[in-house]
Amino acid sequence: MNKVKIGKDAKRILVAGAGGFIGSHMMKYLKKQGQWVRGVDVKEPEFIESCADDFVLMDLRDADGCRRITKDVNQVYNFAANMGGIGFITRVKADVMHDNVIINSNLLDASRRNCVERFFFSSSACVYPKFKQTRPDVPALNEADALPAYPGTPYGWEKLFTERMCLAYYDDYDLETRLARYHNIYGPEGTYRGGREKAPAALCRKVAEADDGGVITVWGDGKQTRSFLYIDDCLEATYRLMNSDCREPLNIGSDELISIDQLADLIIGISGKRLEKEYDLSKPQGVRGRNADLTLLRKAIDWEPRVSYKVGLEKTYRWVEEQVKRSVRRETVIKGSKTGLVGAV
Ligand code: NAD
Repeated sequence: MNKVKIGKDAKRILVAGAGGFIGSHMMKYLKKQGQWVRGVDVKEPEFIESCADDFVLMDLRDADGCRRITKDVNQVYNFAANMGGIGFITRVKADVMHDNVIINSNLLDASRRNCVERFFFSSSACVYPKFKQTRPDVPALNEADALPAYPGTPYGWEKLFTERMCLAYYDDYDLETRLARYHNIYGPEGTYRGGREKAPAALCRKVAEADDGGVITVWGDGKQTRSFLYIDDCLEATYRLMNSDCREPLNIGSDELISIDQLADLIIGISGKRLEKEYDLSKPQGVRGRNADLTLLRKAIDWEPRVSYKVGLEKTYRWVEEQVKRSVRRETVIKGSKTGLVGAV
């Protein structure tokens, strides 16, 4: 990837959170466009080799560090956040708010001090009020639905706060900010185990780990609904939004609502296994239903989601399945080496 030529009119772009799921994919996307890219994160990308021209390992809660890394860039894409799936963001509240508000404040302020031309902030569908998401067949949420505010999680409150802070930096300092409210982005090369994974990756892992004829556990009663957007569609929409004139927050997602049960069935179908589902009502399931209204986004960036659930989940499942097989092979080798049987594996 490092060999991709840097274009004549290349911008110098900082991708924050470049060790994570969307950030590492965005680095690849921007390199393919011929841009010069600096990645920053507390960790290297876990599942891909970094393709950045420069990768800085750094904690973005360090304000001086944020000033250093934004000194010579034209644009900042900020994907850095202490976050995870519904299990994580309902359990970890204070650290999520604290860390994210500091990361976002540091990066925004450093960007305006260093005269960065554009700043992208990855907000979330979690900004929308709980009381508008109480049924599985909810009407799709449009951007104005965020107010009056009552996000269901501290994570959502912080995202709403940072959206406002971005707009304030435009008002007071002319920093051009672009705000996307992501609705459940999924795809290969993202967290699929460890407690921070989200529903599509978690279900892919459970299915991949299950024996044919076995059972998988679904959180909640499975009737809760969401819409999911494949990573390639997300990258294209994000890039178009960054280069658009729209400063208001916009949904980036799919408007094809499905239940978690249907999602699980699709993944089971892809696996080719015969599996039963059981439901764990003690686990958090978030709001009852959530869908994205894409009217404003379509107008602003002339874009449509292209990747169907069938195609996106097939790619995601095959990748997770491969990771699961590899970790089983690794464990077998470790066990074998302890017993002196490595050669037999
Ligand atoms: P991710 O967890 O894979 O990536 C976040 C990255 O931020 C991680 O690599 C992490 O190490 C890094 N990070 C955290 N704290 C840091 C710190 N103090 N200093 C430096 N780096 C730090 O998450 P993702 O799915 O890629 O999400 C990217 C962004 O999009 C996040 O802001 C998230 O809130 C937002 N978002 C994602 C989704 C989704 O479905 N994936 C939905 C809504 C919003």
